[in-house]
Amino acid sequence: MSVCENYLAVEEKVKEACRRAGRNRDEVTLIAVSKTKPMSMIEELLPLGVVDFGENKVQELTAKEEALPSGIHWHMIGHLQRNKVKYMVDKACLIHSVDSLRLAETVSQEAGKKGVTANILIEVNVAGEDSKFGVRPEETAALAETISKLPNISVKGLMTIAPFVENAEENREVFRNLRKLSVDIEEKKFNNVTMAVLSMGMTGDYEVAIEEGATMVRVGTGIFGERDYSK
Ligand SMILES: *Cc1c(COP(=O)(O)O)cnc(C)c1O
Repeated sequence: MSVCENYLAVEEKVKEACRRAGRNRDEVTLIAVSKTKPMSMIEELLPLGVVDFGENKVQELTAKEEALPSGIHWHMIGHLQRNKVKYMVDKACLIHSVDSLRLAETVSQEAGKKGVTANILIEVNVAGEDSKFGVRPEETAALAETISKLPNISVKGLMTIAPFVENAEENREVFRNLRKLSVDIEEKKFNNVTMAVLSMGMTGDYEVAIEEGATMVRVGTGIFGERDYSK
């Protein structure tokens, strides 16, 4: 199957999941996670009107951003080192992976230097896996409130990377818990904080994530095929 055929098949499943959940299709953004994949594969999708792409390395995101047409929305979904923020803060439409105050402070400073406001999500380690980045659920509201007081940075919601599981149903509780957390934080009505975005769900479990309220799903393998990290 071609990248376009894969994309359209995923799109169909997104639509069906929205229908099952009684949600409008336009409530969910399908992000094509193009990390490790060549620009030619991204270009194949542009005629379909696909504009949202996800990358997890700063260098790869900036190289692709520079070479490909403007108008693409680049999502930074990977762990971000503070010394690299300056290269990408004005290139990404949304940074999904802010998981500390120190990183948020750097994003705030570098966004100020570039004269932009950085839109960010707080990455939450819902399942408490040692291997995962992200803040603990119980620390999330306090971090959102502290970040809300920094200039040039705006909290738009939450992101999580669910555990790798055989059966997507096993992650339903993780997605439900992130949703609950976002509702709790929304109710606190911190200035400059919204919980409009819930970035959750990947190739193995995006349909369940949509049923549980995801507003952004991040699909790589399902669109571009397996990644080869040996190169
Ligand atoms: C790689 C990656 C994805 C996409 O994973 P697939 O299983 O290939 O769909 C989604 N989110 C993050 C944060 C990633 O790093």
